[in-house]
This record gives sequence, C-alpha cells and structure tokens, in this order.
Amino acid sequence: MNLQRCQHLLERNRTLKNKVEKKVAVVSKCLLGYRCRFDGEIRNYGIKEMLNKRNYEVVGVCPELEIGLGVPREPIRLVLKGKRILLIQKKTQMKLKRKLERFSKDFLSRLKRIDVFVLKSKSPSCGNNDCKVFSNLKDEIVVGFSDGVFTKVCKRFFPGVYIFNEENIFSLDIL
Ligand code: SF4
Repeated sequence: MNLQRCQHLLERNRTLKNKVEKKVAVVSKCLLGYRCRFDGEIRNYGIKEMLNKRNYEVVGVCPELEIGLGVPREPIRLVLKGKRILLIQKKTQMKLKRKLERFSKDFLSRLKRIDVFVLKSKSPSCGNNDCKVFSNLKDEIVVGFSDGVFTKVCKRFFPGVYIFNEENIFSLDIL
C-alpha cells in the first residue's frame, strides 16, 4: 500500500471515529444567537462554540416558535388552576400547553440520542424548575416554581440526562 493510500485511510478512520463518538446537545435556540425571544432581542452566549469544541453536535430548538408564536410576541405564563398548571398567553388568553406538549413529544421522539440539554432558565417553556407559576392571569402573585412545559417532556423522555442553563453550562466539564 502506498503512502498516499495509507494517509487517506487514516484520515477516513479519524472522520468516522469523530462521527461515531459525537455527543448530542439539545439547546434552546435563544441561547445560540437566534432571534426567537419573546421580546425580539438577540443574545449569544458562545455556547455552540463551547460545545463544538467538546465534540458535541448542537441541535437548537425554540418550542414557542415551533407552535407558531411569532417574534416579538405577547408573553406567556404558567398559571395554577386547581391542581393543574396551565400555559396561557396573557393578552389573548390562548391556552398553549397541549400544543406545546405535542410539539415537544414529536421533536424528542425523532432524536435517538441526547447527552445533555442546555435550556433557557426561567422560561415557561424551557425553564428547569425555576419558572414562576402565577395565581392567575392578571396579578403578579407567584405561588411557586415549576419546569417549563418543554422541559417537563424532556425529563419524561430522557430521564437522567443532565439539564444545564446559560449560567451553569460552563461547568460542563464536571460531567
Ligand atoms: S426560552 Fe425556549 S421557547 Fe423561549 S425563546 Fe428561548 S428557546 Fe424559545
């Protein structure tokens, strides 16, 4: 076998190895510099670059955009109704929980592997146990904290997969 052929095979093996070993991170798109926040602001935290360096493939998702909410959009909130927590758009009073759950299940069932989530803190869709739950639509009375609707489905579909946010992602190396 000539030298050129050897080098070609080595390179091919390296590429295949990288492909096989690539881990998958599902990340809230608003953390990746996409214009999908409710207020239309763009924020980039350098998370994609940081994960790519650690051999993660980054899959971005914005559940609120995916169910047809525009940018900018009227804010949505978690509201306690009896024993249930609803997801409602304050201004239009549109109930969005079922739609968002349906999207989440569909999206997650298409992914075979997820090694880590990086989800926006305090969001009623992407928050991880840190999203305010209000007593009703009008007042600012907070009765507790919960997962966002998307995050809750992530935990059900991929139990045990670590969930970071934009603040603690930089401690990823502890895993
Ligand atoms: S927190 Fe989640 S739903 Fe809200 S803008 Fe970011 S990605 Fe979209």
